[in-house]
Amino acid sequence: MTSRRMVAVGGTLVCLGLPVLGSQTPAQKPDYPFQPVPFTSIHLNDVFWAPRIETNRTTTIPVAFQQCERTQRVYHFERAAQALRGEPLEDTKPPGYPFDDTDLYKVIEGASYTLSVHPDPKLDAYVDGLIAKIAAAQEPDGYLYTTRTINPANPHRWAGAQRWVLERDDSHELYNIGHLIEAAVAHHLATGKKSLLDVATKAADLLVRTFGPGKRSTWPGHQITEMALVRLYRVTGNQEYLNLAEFLLDERGPGPDPAKPIEFPGGERANPRGLEYNQAQTKIIEQSEPVGHAVRAMYMYAGMADVAALKGDEDIRQAGLRIWEHLVTSKMYITGGIGAAGGHEGFGPPYELPNMQAYNETCASIGMDYWNHRLFLLEGDAKYIDVMERTLYNGLISGVSLDGKTFFYPNPLESNGQHARAEWFGVACCPGNITRFMASVPGYVYAKRGDALYVNLFAGGTADIELEGGRLKMVQDTRYPWDGIVKMTVTPARARSFPIHVRIPGWARNEPIPSDLYRFMDKDDSAATIKVNAQDVPMTLEKGYVVIERAWKPGDTIELTLPMPVRRVLSHPSVEANRDRVALQRGPIVYAAEWPDNLNGKVRNIVVPDGNTLMSEFRKDLLKGVQIVKGRAFGLAYDEKGAVRKAEQEFVAIPYATWANRGRGQMAVWLARNDAAARPTPFPTLATTSTVTSSFSRKNIRNITDGEEPASSADSSAYFDWWPTRGCKPGEAPGAPAGASQRPSCSQGEWVEMAFAKPAQIAGTEVYWFDDTGRGGVRVPATWRLLYKDGDEWKPVEGVETYGVARNGWNKVTFEPVTTSALRIELTMQPGMSAGLQEWRVK
Ligand SMILES: [Zn+2]
Repeated sequence: MTSRRMVAVGGTLVCLGLPVLGSQTPAQKPDYPFQPVPFTSIHLNDVFWAPRIETNRTTTIPVAFQQCERTQRVYHFERAAQALRGEPLEDTKPPGYPFDDTDLYKVIEGASYTLSVHPDPKLDAYVDGLIAKIAAAQEPDGYLYTTRTINPANPHRWAGAQRWVLERDDSHELYNIGHLIEAAVAHHLATGKKSLLDVATKAADLLVRTFGPGKRSTWPGHQITEMALVRLYRVTGNQEYLNLAEFLLDERGPGPDPAKPIEFPGGERANPRGLEYNQAQTKIIEQSEPVGHAVRAMYMYAGMADVAALKGDEDIRQAGLRIWEHLVTSKMYITGGIGAAGGHEGFGPPYELPNMQAYNETCASIGMDYWNHRLFLLEGDAKYIDVMERTLYNGLISGVSLDGKTFFYPNPLESNGQHARAEWFGVACCPGNITRFMASVPGYVYAKRGDALYVNLFAGGTADIELEGGRLKMVQDTRYPWDGIVKMTVTPARARSFPIHVRIPGWARNEPIPSDLYRFMDKDDSAATIKVNAQDVPMTLEKGYVVIERAWKPGDTIELTLPMPVRRVLSHPSVEANRDRVALQRGPIVYAAEWPDNLNGKVRNIVVPDGNTLMSEFRKDLLKGVQIVKGRAFGLAYDEKGAVRKAEQEFVAIPYATWANRGRGQMAVWLARNDAAARPTPFPTLATTSTVTSSFSRKNIRNITDGEEPASSADSSAYFDWWPTRGCKPGEAPGAPAGASQRPSCSQGEWVEMAFAKPAQIAGTEVYWFDDTGRGGVRVPATWRLLYKDGDEWKPVEGVETYGVARNGWNKVTFEPVTTSALRIELTMQPGMSAGLQEWRVK
């Protein structure tokens, strides 16, 4: 552990100016070379962020607190406190999930941020009341985990029989304490109170006593404790917290013998999903590729950046930079979202970026910005801000509705109407995370190093900044991101010389992201310009910044002009889902075509030819004021004979982040460039006009009657499956609900039904099965049969020769004609495999 640390003092770090011990005065501790200007010093009054931050304060935070109360997340603390006082509990049922405690912590963190810039005695008192309940639920030695304290003999089944034994699985004990610390530090900095900080340090001290060299080993199954301990170290100065953060990172990995499964002291179970899920497939310093659960990954990489900076650890730094290169080269969506695969809420293989199935958890986007911001603070390179900005304006804030009341967990890039934001979730990580992130957005605008100022983001407002050489007031006057003109007024307390680094975004330099994953279709010749007191400044870039070093006097102006034509973005050819498709971007904003703005409520049938001119205009009454993109396009539709008809039409695209604020319907970010890539609107049929339901109500069942011809059984664009439920193996009994899906782990039968608007005579049906052999665990079913509704009864149809289970084609069934109001498929899945349908049609 200590030997590799020495490497850091060698070459690279010093060259980069990363402070390490021994290279500076003893009073200074190593830290990030670049420091953010805290959000408390910045007041935004702009068109974009200020209203969103205010909505977060006045709506989202109160709504999230109400949901925490309604869903008993506060009650769990009350019951744990009762148990600690020795009072008998009427209700000893464990919380729904062992990590439910963290939702309250996150909203307290968000509320604290708002309190630090917007005093609110009522909110302050409410938070004090919650903190008293949290403190009362803490065990005498500092342990805080309501599911065990409520009923130590029977906690949530993921908690394990004793403390920590399932930490590397799913107990989330360290995750809970991590979020507690994050909230406590925020609350302390906002209010000066120590009430929650005392609870957090007591819990952290327990961790320090329990884990470390010569003590117990573990690593957090869900990361965040690492970055949280670093924050706690910053406010307390207690080096043991930083050392523990480093220990928890160093310990992660498969153990001395990778062939051997991890042994848990309680012997309960080894990690069921494999070590990649928790980024423990190797030691962290050997990692090069983002894998596994995306939120866990982001929090870990952010923690790695912290420890690399504060310990001057070159190996950890290099690992983080390698992983980042891999991510931006092959695993990031144009919206900045990450974590393509829903099955494990995480990363898929390189370039596998499906649009409709994109998972892109809101929390992963938030983690993405925590991490990219930290990499900037470590490296001083604007490319990390480029990535941060892309996620921030697109795939992150899409997680909350414009009214601040509903939330996305996944953030797909295409919809057939199956997606809608929800008021809350069983696993409610995302809303709380939104509350804490939105409140702190101004903290990402500026950074500093010594006497140098870095202007990273553009947003109207004022900032009071303390540089090494003196105070400075910065004013930004801009309608960014709707307009690319940014006027800055520089007012140092006294005239003096210092450098200001102004970021020229990658998108203004013909580089949508710092890799070849996405590129602009055509080069834009209208280059960015920058002027100081109306005099041109040469566009010489250093790590993405124009450096203006001069004697600044109060009232000096910088005028940055970033031309914002509508740009067409193309994807790397390896991204199959985006082949022959184009995305639209203007400034930092990625666009989506959505149903209310387009003909017949359809967008998946639209073709935008490469040559067509695209325009942009501001619509003050649309979606609280947005810049739209519009142009001429073609709409494709099948006629009743099955021929494709093509007609010219207007099309409109809105900022992706603002979709799903006007009800359910089609949406697409990647639009067809030619007819072959478009999905012609199906001619209405009995199936497409029916109501379809299934035994798995939460899945996208409407996909199977969208009238679209699947490309193959493995086509991932619009299918339905029963995953993660699989067919029971011999002797296996249908299990209890598994995980967040609330579905049994195995089942002996599933069904899907099609109800018609009015009874119809039917004599045949065709089924196209979903099967992702080679990629996932879904196969054609073992057996199936068709039933029809006769009054209130389901009866099997008669005269069927075979029920086909062929892949990559239609399985046609004919039967004696019936007049019925509904059809039903009943199926059994193959043992150990799930099943699903691409499409179902009737004759
Ligand atoms: Zn989440």
